[in-house]
Amino acid sequence: MCEIKLQDESFSKRFTSYSSGSIQPKAPAGHSWESLMEMARNEARCAQKEGEVPVGAVVVEMGGTIVGFGHNRCIQDHDISAHAEIVALRCAGQTLRTYRFSSCIMVVTLEPCAMCTACILNARLNGVVFGARDHRAGAIVSSCSETFSSAFGVRIWYMGGVLGLLCAQDLQRFFAQRRCERIEEELLCSTIMSPQRIS
Ligand SMILES: [Zn+2]
Repeated sequence: MCEIKLQDESFSKRFTSYSSGSIQPKAPAGHSWESLMEMARNEARCAQKEGEVPVGAVVVEMGGTIVGFGHNRCIQDHDISAHAEIVALRCAGQTLRTYRFSSCIMVVTLEPCAMCTACILNARLNGVVFGARDHRAGAIVSSCSETFSSAFGVRIWYMGGVLGLLCAQDLQRFFAQRRCERIEEELLCSTIMSPQRIS
């Protein structure tokens, strides 16, 4: 069951919502949406260990085979496009030797941004399942979704809020920790930089 029901229904015409009381799409064979999201969360934990923002994604075939996975790698790869979704799509492309994924679903811990949403549509994924909403940069339901209503000639479904609370907490913890580290660094710097009386 989804933990968070999306309230905002002004989603892109290019996406069909399964999140507002309609029947949930069936999870690929051998999985539940929650178990797939746990895999994506594991990927997110890898990102955090590597000093990246903890977002993870998996690409799964309808038959149940995991064909791609990935996590944020922007900092270590010096690559602004290395978001978890793109890394997972590149991985799936190598696995399936294709760039179109109509038999696959992406499961990602955070609502995709505009760049990743464009790639998801171009990749012709069957559907996308995300955990936490990104109210600032999310492009499926949260912002700029109208951009995608006419730019792409495809239509895919989405479902948001799968383990949404846990996915949101993972990110909140990460940013809270990073804020604390920055404050500690600033305090350390101000201590070093402050003029001291030598007696
Ligand atoms: Zn993205």
